[in-house]
Amino acid sequence: ATTTSKHTVTKSAEIMKEAQDLLPGGVNSPVRAFKSVGGGPIVFDKVKGAYAFDVDGNKYVDYVGSWGPAIVGHASDEVNEALIAQLAKGTSFGAPCALENELAKAVIDAVPSVEMVRFCNSGTEACLSALRTMRAYTGREKVLKFVGCYHGHADSFLVQAGSGVATLGLPDSPGVPSASTAPTLCATYNDIESVREIFKANKGEIAGVFIEPVVGNSGFIPPTKEFLQALREITEEDGAVLCFDEVMTGFRISYGGAQEHFGVTPDMTTMGKVIGGGLPVGAYGGKREIMDVVAPAGPMYQAGTLSGNPLAMTAGLKTLEILRRDDRAGYKHMDRQTKKLVEGILELGKKHGHAMTGGSISGMFGFFFCEGPVNCFQDAEKTDTAKFAKWHRGMLEEGVYLAPSSYEAGFMSMAHTDEDIEFTLKAADKVLASL
Ligand code: PMP
Repeated sequence: ATTTSKHTVTKSAEIMKEAQDLLPGGVNSPVRAFKSVGGGPIVFDKVKGAYAFDVDGNKYVDYVGSWGPAIVGHASDEVNEALIAQLAKGTSFGAPCALENELAKAVIDAVPSVEMVRFCNSGTEACLSALRTMRAYTGREKVLKFVGCYHGHADSFLVQAGSGVATLGLPDSPGVPSASTAPTLCATYNDIESVREIFKANKGEIAGVFIEPVVGNSGFIPPTKEFLQALREITEEDGAVLCFDEVMTGFRISYGGAQEHFGVTPDMTTMGKVIGGGLPVGAYGGKREIMDVVAPAGPMYQAGTLSGNPLAMTAGLKTLEILRRDDRAGYKHMDRQTKKLVEGILELGKKHGHAMTGGSISGMFGFFFCEGPVNCFQDAEKTDTAKFAKWHRGMLEEGVYLAPSSYEAGFMSMAHTDEDIEFTLKAADKVLASL
């Protein structure tokens, strides 16, 4: 099933040419534009299971999975059936529905830090609302984040924000008032001394800390458990709120997220992606006394016309049900598949003389074209982005769809089979030989 000789993307190119006139940069989210890898984006026609099919009829093994949500495989029959049944009852109520309670219970049961939750419509909304909540709760304004971590595109977070921003080479974004980012402090990932110094210089003034508990937006970078534990201790001592941004890692690296995996419980958690099962959802939650400041329980205002949308709740509920099944067998499957894939690619890299490093935790993985270890964004910047661009296009031509940036993690799904991994490794062998 190789697509090499026949890999034409004429229709994709035509659609993207038209899109350039209609949408800024031809897309509705920057990384999709393939700016850092070149070659032009592939336009999808449909997705199913582990595969994406483009408008020219090419089939790809997909390791982007809609950037995370497609964890049980694309367009799962079960999720679709649940959605169709809900569709008949209406797409949006703008009033309470029982499904919100059901998904809230599932999230509270699963995620150690979450005693109460508020649903919204994206990860960006979840993070900006969590920030407002921690500021309202503490009466403090400063916030600490880590270089290379992305927490959505709210003004306060667009400081050294990794991923799309790193890819485009924008250290910051025009249009963000300097007053909005002045209270944002940046530390170095996996470097607890950089955190201690900032807390020392801003004692009692930091509302909270946002962190990707496993980084996906500077490529895949795991934390050390000691780093997360020390962060927990420092924030507790200072009275600052610790928020794990689990928009990417939540229900992905384990059912209870990174906090369950590492056994470190923050005060607040933001979520998105998987909990919407492919529909637009975000959520933030945490300790009851913190969430009690959120309106209308408390004075911190945050709202949404489509929040708690019955379709999104339905897709999320069915997705979580599938993930819980058979003693959470899906996670064991994804863990095996990512290990096979990453170990296989690193071995092939060695065979063909490329400096490479990488890793995985269950359904999330990544690798860099440089010598390891990569412990922070500053290390990740050593990756050979020109080589990555060739690798990315080569893999695409072989029928493998990888994230179009060196600074993005990869996502496995429950639908990826041994055959898919073998197919991918065969493609990798060929492409790595050609670089
Ligand atoms: N936080 C993290 C860790 C993310 O990875 C993302 C998106 N990739 C966001 C927040 C923002 O989520 P959204 O794109 O749904 O606004």
